[in-house]
Amino acid sequence: MGLKTSGSNLRVDGEALWTDLMETARFGGTPKGGVKRLTLTAEDRQVRDWFVKTCEELGCTVSCDSMGNLFARRPGLDDSLPPITMGSHLDTQPTGGKFDGILGVLGGLAVLRALREAGHVTRHPIELINWTNEEGSRFTPPMMCSGVFAGIFTEQEVLDKRDRAGLRFGDELEAIGYRGGEICGQHPITAYFELHIEQGPILEAEELTIGAVAGVQGMRWYEVTVRGRDAHAGSTPMPLRHDALLASAHMIAALAEVARAHAPAVGTVGLIENHPNSNNVVPGETFFTVDIRHPEDHVVAAMEAAFQERFRAIAEAGGVDVEIVRIWDAPAVHFDPACVAMVADAAREAGFAPRSIVSGPGHDAAYVARVAPTAMIFVPCKDGLSHNEEESITQADAQAGANVLLGAILRADAAF
Ligand SMILES: [Zn+2]
Repeated sequence: MGLKTSGSNLRVDGEALWTDLMETARFGGTPKGGVKRLTLTAEDRQVRDWFVKTCEELGCTVSCDSMGNLFARRPGLDDSLPPITMGSHLDTQPTGGKFDGILGVLGGLAVLRALREAGHVTRHPIELINWTNEEGSRFTPPMMCSGVFAGIFTEQEVLDKRDRAGLRFGDELEAIGYRGGEICGQHPITAYFELHIEQGPILEAEELTIGAVAGVQGMRWYEVTVRGRDAHAGSTPMPLRHDALLASAHMIAALAEVARAHAPAVGTVGLIENHPNSNNVVPGETFFTVDIRHPEDHVVAAMEAAFQERFRAIAEAGGVDVEIVRIWDAPAVHFDPACVAMVADAAREAGFAPRSIVSGPGHDAAYVARVAPTAMIFVPCKDGLSHNEEESITQADAQAGANVLLGAILRADAAF
C-alpha cells in the first residue's frame, strides 16, 4: 500500500455499481419498475441498513448525525484532515425511479470499492454521505437535512415538521433508529462532489455523457390571487364582466412570454384554483402559483419585475384586482470553480468532453456549497425523465459518471 498522487489508472467496477443499483431498487420497488422510498419509512430504514452494512464490508466506519445524515469514512494517510466527501440521497418520490439521488450514493460506493481494490490510500480521509430527506415529498421542504448541515434551517424546526398524517419528523427519525449523536453541521469537510442524473434533456440531445455542473439556477415562487366578481353567465354582457379566470389566462400566457424573452429562463404556472368553478358563473376569484428560474439572480429579479408589470396591466384591463405574494427565494448557486475544473479534467481524462451545464432542479450540493467547495457531475437520463417510475439510465453512463467522480476525488485529494 503506497501513496499514489495521480491514481489515473484507477477505474470503478461498473458491473458491481449496476448490481448495487438493482439491489437497492428492491427496497420500496414498485410493480412498474420504479421505487417508492419516502424518507424515514421502513423502506428508508432497509436501504440505510444495507448502506451501513455494505460500507462496513468495504472497511469504512459509518457515523450518523442528529438529522440522520450518514457518513461512511475511509481513513486517509493524514486522518486529522477534514475529509474529501461525495454523496447524494437514497430517498425517493412516491413514484420515483431507481437513479435520482441513488446513483450519487452508490457511485460513491463504487469509488470506495475502487480505492480499496487498488490499495490506494488517499492523503485525506474520504467520506461518502447519504443526506436525509432530499426529496421533501413526505416532509417539506426538500434538501432538509443538508440544509440543517449548512445552517439554512435549525435542527429544531426540522424535528418539529409533520407529514400529512400528522407524524413528527423527529419521532419518525427515532423510530427508524437513525437519530445519531453527532450534532448536525459539526462535521467539517474539505470539499464535496455529487454525481446525479441530469433530470433534463440536454446531455441526451447533444449525445454527451458528462455534465460539469457550474451551479444551480436561482428560483422564486409566488402565490397569485385574482379577484373579480361572480356573475350570471347568461345575463352579464361581456363588457361588464370582471372575469378572474379570463384575466388569469392572459397572465399565464404573459408569464410564458416573459420567460421566453429571458432565455434560458423558465416560467411555470403549475397549480390553479378557480372559484366558484361552476359552468354558468363568470368566475369571481382565482388562485395560482408562479415558478420562475434562471442561472443569474439579476435576471430572476428582472423577470419578477416584468411579469408583475404585465399582470397588473392585464388586471386593470380586465377590471379585476391582482395580489402577488413571493413565498420562496432561492438564490442562484455558483459552484467552486476549482472543483468544477476538477470534474471537467477528470471527464477529459476518462475520454469524455465535459459539457458545462446549470442545474434546473435543486440538490443537496446547492446547500453544501455554502460551507465547502462543491461541484456536481451530471450523466444523461432517458428522455430527460425523472421523478417518474420510468426513469432510466445506461450502465455505461452510470460507470462513466462514477469514474469521473473518482477522478475528481483524487484531484481534490491532491489539490486541497
Ligand atoms: Zn435527487
